[in-house]
Amino acid sequence: MKSQTKLWLLMIISATMSILLFFPLSLLIGNIGVNGYDLKSLNTISQELLTTIEEQQAFQATEVATLLDHAHQSHPSIRFEWIGANGATIYDTLGENNHYTFKQLADRLLYMPQNLWGDDDPITLTYSINYANQPYYLLLGLSSDAMKQGQIYFFMRTFKVMFTFMLPLLVAFFIPYLLSLWFFYPMNRRINRVNYAMGQLNLQSEIIILKDTKKDELGQLTTHYNEMAHRILSQADQIKQFDTRRKLLLSNLSHDLRTPLTMILGYAETIRTGMYKDEQELQMYAKILLQQSRYMDKLLDQLLDITRQDEGNLKLHFAWHPITELMRKVAADYVMFLDGQNFTFEVDIPDEDILIWMDAPLIERAIRNLLDNAMRYGSDGQYLEIGLTDQDDYLVIIVADKGRGIPQQEQTHIFERFYRVDDSRQGEGLGIGLAIVKEIVTLHHGSISVTSHPFKQTVFTIQLPKSQHEQ
Ligand code: ADP
Repeated sequence: MKSQTKLWLLMIISATMSILLFFPLSLLIGNIGVNGYDLKSLNTISQELLTTIEEQQAFQATEVATLLDHAHQSHPSIRFEWIGANGATIYDTLGENNHYTFKQLADRLLYMPQNLWGDDDPITLTYSINYANQPYYLLLGLSSDAMKQGQIYFFMRTFKVMFTFMLPLLVAFFIPYLLSLWFFYPMNRRINRVNYAMGQLNLQSEIIILKDTKKDELGQLTTHYNEMAHRILSQADQIKQFDTRRKLLLSNLSHDLRTPLTMILGYAETIRTGMYKDEQELQMYAKILLQQSRYMDKLLDQLLDITRQDEGNLKLHFAWHPITELMRKVAADYVMFLDGQNFTFEVDIPDEDILIWMDAPLIERAIRNLLDNAMRYGSDGQYLEIGLTDQDDYLVIIVADKGRGIPQQEQTHIFERFYRVDDSRQGEGLGIGLAIVKEIVTLHHGSISVTSHPFKQTVFTIQLPKSQHEQ
């Protein structure tokens, strides 16, 4: 059932129950600890008296006096008068002699229920009986103090009174419900709007942004919904981009693998058939074979890394290691590699050993990745630098080159998986290297950043905390 229907039902049921409960409850409460007469008890008294008078044919003063006195003794606060057809008192328990006009008697009869209202003194009731074609009247009079208080509903004997009483009562009952309806209805509409917008939320379609400036809980919910919708949309966008890059990577990969393979096959065939000039050319071919095989090996390694990263499988083996020694070893490899090439290679590593708590092979891989990148993408600068500085709580490792650099707007993206600065450039990598470096550094609770000025300097800086908790 819709909450709006529920609300209506609830309102109608509550209002009906309030009205239904009002009567028995006020009757009950009105009767608790309240003495005195009400219309019903006065009617009973008079009816009994009239029946006795009729049974005993006691219409005349002498006979009726005994009966009225007897009744007066039982009900001392009530005055009983017996009036003849001409309006003259036949007997009065107060001993008075009155002469009522026909109008007075008629009025008393007519207004009998109403004159029980309020503080009018005395309260009078009139009953008539016929004997031998003559009307006789029994008048009851009593002070309003002798009546039960709080019994107004007994006296609503006419529709008019009922109507004048019920209308304000109904309005009074319904106003709170109408007010709550007035309060809940717009709220319900706002809930429905959020509900609808949430139902429409999916990655393909336009999102619905809701306007709700109110500060209440629903307003906050709407604000949270809007934020969530924006987040979902931007994440969906990222996923889409990621997916596109992944697809591009796969299509590039086949090309990237085929190029070195074609070269390997070609040069291997040349060597096999002895189609080379001299020993020097053979050495050159062998070097190309080695380079291309290494490149393929690296591509395959990176492919493996992607799978491992996907499965969260980069396993860590922490221990205390001298990072200075590790970096010297890596630097030495590159010195050998660059030997004979027109390359400046700066190495700035402190002489004393610095031990840190790390996974040495992973850190080595990170540094080698940065150096490989510097060689591959920054070789135009003919410059390579590796450095380590000890800064109290941190070690700072830098790898720099003076090549073409990385445009400012690309710098935040290069650490994302499959991101390559120039996607159309093939045969250079899978766009996974820096993502791996970043992950390794993060696993060591460190950070990595880049600054780049084309052909001046491109510097990758890794900060590693020295005092890590042993894990
Ligand atoms: P890849 O495996 O393709 O080399 P990386 O994640 O290592 O991917 O690098 C991402 C991109 O960052 C590369 O495509 C390259 O364009 C750029 N890049 C990385 N290092 C350098 C650098 N030293 N100089 C210029 N561009 C670089």
